[in-house]
Amino acid sequence: MEVLMEQALRAEAVNHLRTLIRCDTSNPPGGERPAAEYIAEHLTREGIEAQVLEKSPRRSNVVARLPGTGEAAPLLLLSHLDVVPARSEEWSHHPFSGDLADGYVWGRGAVDMKNTTAIQMTAMSTLARQRVPLKRDLLLAATAGEEADPEVGVIFLADAHPEWVTAEYALNESGGEALLVGGKRFYTLQIAQKMGMHLNMVALGPDGHSSIPYERSAISTLAEAVTRLKEQPLPHRVTNTTRRFFQEMAAAVEDERQAGALLDMLDPARQAGALDILDAAPFVKRMFWSMMRNIAEPTILRAGYKRNVIPASAEAEISARNLPGVGPSELLGEIQPVVGDDVQLHPGRFYDALEFDIPDDDPLYQAARYAIQRHDPEGILVPYLSCGGTDAPFLAPLGVKTLGFTPMQPDPAGLVLQLAHSSNERISVDNLSFGTQVLLDTILHLNGASPYDSRIRAQ
Ligand SMILES: [Zn+2]
Repeated sequence: MEVLMEQALRAEAVNHLRTLIRCDTSNPPGGERPAAEYIAEHLTREGIEAQVLEKSPRRSNVVARLPGTGEAAPLLLLSHLDVVPARSEEWSHHPFSGDLADGYVWGRGAVDMKNTTAIQMTAMSTLARQRVPLKRDLLLAATAGEEADPEVGVIFLADAHPEWVTAEYALNESGGEALLVGGKRFYTLQIAQKMGMHLNMVALGPDGHSSIPYERSAISTLAEAVTRLKEQPLPHRVTNTTRRFFQEMAAAVEDERQAGALLDMLDPARQAGALDILDAAPFVKRMFWSMMRNIAEPTILRAGYKRNVIPASAEAEISARNLPGVGPSELLGEIQPVVGDDVQLHPGRFYDALEFDIPDDDPLYQAARYAIQRHDPEGILVPYLSCGGTDAPFLAPLGVKTLGFTPMQPDPAGLVLQLAHSSNERISVDNLSFGTQVLLDTILHLNGASPYDSRIRAQ
């Protein structure tokens, strides 16, 4: 009976994900309506109240509610429906095919983040079908616009329809995957995240004929500043979450040298050496490095208009990302000394980063830890800071603690989160099934209900 249940959950999550991937929601332009309608129709068929809400035509959000007794505050299952664009010639399966091949569902959004939407829909439908009594209302919101224009998505919902997204906790993207470190499996529960600043860097210089060049030009000045940004990392910083993250991993690994290296990550003088020693994949180590500092990464360059004309200005767009507690002037105060005074910094939109106070005995933390251990007895849950931003800050004014938790076991093909925004984005069917089961048990534990397969056996 238990096995049948697992197979049914797996098949349902796979089916939802394939259907959602086939709705091309590339943003720009977005066009989330078919995906939102599919979800609303499915949940309505399961007897769940669901609505499609739009601020702009075709930029649809879907919201749903499975009522609890109201003894405790609601839990929101949050995801976004839009995806970044894809170039099909770079893929081995068409990015909007939703192909099922080699044990994976392929397509744009398989990791960021229609997988989570599919898992959340499956969990919510299962709880409705089984008429599980819940203490907390279970809400679901799948939003438009996260990748480019959240004003049509989560910001619109928070402003115009707060009753659908106000909860004590929300479970969202950017956490949950197991990291292999020092021979152990650490599942991340994301309780903090960086946000960012739009920043342009401009260099000026004399213009003129390229046949008799000046010693320095706007382009060479900009290039020097860009190079310095790559050569001189911004200062090492420790937040409450990163301290807990490395300390808890250090306490769990058996190898003393690995434990020492994990603690050394918190020490600015020893961090570089620690990264050399750590037993983890190169991408995981890059992520650890990034977790310990603000980031200013040049991503777009602009200069010149004709080959034989020296341009008077050159500009770089910088993707700047701030840790919790760092304000805009503090961030600029770190970047300016690195790039020097020959370039000007033009700051734009800035968002504060987030860090929630989620101690070990927090009810959601306990529920997630219980669910991980039930489905992976050797798995260890650790609090985690995401280097990228999500929809979470826009719900913070409503008092929602939005945490990242899409549970995934290590994939033999490599880190799943590395596939976000990349070609050949795919998720294993095993991980869809694992994620659904862990999410179900997290929800049940948080509501004081018994785990799901013992419920089935009892029927
Ligand atoms: Zn995303």
